[in-house]
Amino acid sequence: MAYAIGYQCTACGACVTICPNQAVTGEYPHYRIEPLLCTECVLYADDPVCVKVCPEQAIFEVTEEVFQEKGGHHE
Ligand code: SF4
Ligand code: SF4
Repeated sequence: MAYAIGYQCTACGACVTICPNQAVTGEYPHYRIEPLLCTECVLYADDPVCVKVCPEQAIFEVTEEVFQEKGGHHE
């Protein structure tokens, strides 16, 4: 799975700069994390650096549960 950006995002841009995989794209108010690029920072940091840097706690993990809840489906 990957991480996603919620409605609390104020488009400060911090996560765009810090992501090692350039996984954050878009511009206000539609910042989003490209799930195919997000590696959850595995092998890069102990915890996702975008979650740490976000001043609004707007970034959350898309767990299998959340994914199903929102009616997602695997490709
Ligand atoms: S978890 Fe890591 S790889 Fe994924 S968007 Fe955040 S900073 Fe980028
Ligand atoms: S760090 Fe948080 S508030 Fe700033 S652009 Fe990223 S998700 Fe939005």
